[in-house]
Amino acid sequence: DRDAVPAPPETVRLRSTLEQLPAYVAGKPAADDGMRRFKVSSNESPFPPVKAVRDAATAALEGTHRYPDAAARELREALGTKHGVDPSQIALSTGSVAVTGDLVRALVDQGDEVVYPWRSFEAYPILVGSHGGVPVQVPLTEELEYDLDAMAAAITDRTRLVILCTPNNPTGASLTTEQIEGFLERVPEDVVVAIDEAYREFHDPATVAGTAGIFRRHGNVVLLRTFSKLQGLAGLRIGYAVAHPRLAAALGQVTVPFGASVPAQAAALASLRGDVQEELGRRAVWIRDERSRVLAALAAQGWQMPSAQGNFVYFPLGEQTASFAEFADSRGLVLRAYGTDGVRATIAEQEANDLLIEIAGQWRQR
Ligand code: PMP
Repeated sequence: DRDAVPAPPETVRLRSTLEQLPAYVAGKPAADDGMRRFKVSSNESPFPPVKAVRDAATAALEGTHRYPDAAARELREALGTKHGVDPSQIALSTGSVAVTGDLVRALVDQGDEVVYPWRSFEAYPILVGSHGGVPVQVPLTEELEYDLDAMAAAITDRTRLVILCTPNNPTGASLTTEQIEGFLERVPEDVVVAIDEAYREFHDPATVAGTAGIFRRHGNVVLLRTFSKLQGLAGLRIGYAVAHPRLAAALGQVTVPFGASVPAQAAALASLRGDVQEELGRRAVWIRDERSRVLAALAAQGWQMPSAQGNFVYFPLGEQTASFAEFADSRGLVLRAYGTDGVRATIAEQEANDLLIEIAGQWRQR
């Protein structure tokens, strides 16, 4: 009898900070009304994992009566090779959102501040606030670009961590190497700067920030990467940080034990193989081309879209945000709406992108 579970006594207290925490509103699954819908609300890959990766994950299931290698030696070795660093500089967990949480747990004491742009990834205020940290949200400019002057000015004696999300989710703009370098000059060395590059592979190759070099010049920089987007492993949950060994070790101390599962480690390792990298590179080109096609069509309809460097485009619709999302939903496209700011649409399979163009055109002519 499910109802027989006793309620916890009234004296059980939840932390007061929970009341202020925003909810993480995940991309909602399509309504079950029989209509065919495309879910383009979570920046997932429209492609299933590459076959060699699927095979590696499936084969690894054989060994899942054992815990994974807690040190993930093979994967960290391979990631070290990819980034030209020692494996001791790689810290893994169940998705880069978890690694970001580890970073907060490793750096932030009660009342310490974490500076990041807003709007940005909606997990940041939850990760910071749930740990008793103080989120310091620095508004993007009117053009939805970074305001690095304001971000530098927001740093105080209590700031422990600054997060730069580039390309920024959900708005799409990115930072150049020069911008990041210039910003780092203004950040005290004892403040850690995390560069969240979940969407790095979708960046216009001509202007993508050379973060590997930045990382070598600044010991306080941490790179955050994921296998969830281009690699298409969102459902397996695996991501990592590249950091100085001292910071990487601190992440290892606070992370959930055995977070990177056996199949996730195997799939991530297979993703790094040369032939798989080539296939993933072709997919990135395809998505960038589709993004250009969508943006050109929207521009022809009269839309003024902000810079889009991720696998998504952002409509800054203000008060019309919710109505646009409903308009799209009723026509078969599930988008992500952000309060009264705007709507994000993932660049997905061609049919979904065509539908996005069609709906955006209908909206303007309604
Ligand atoms: N960073 C950003 C900016 C994201 O948008 C996401 C996914 N939505 C993540 C990190 C987390 O990715 P994951 O936890 O799946 O690795």
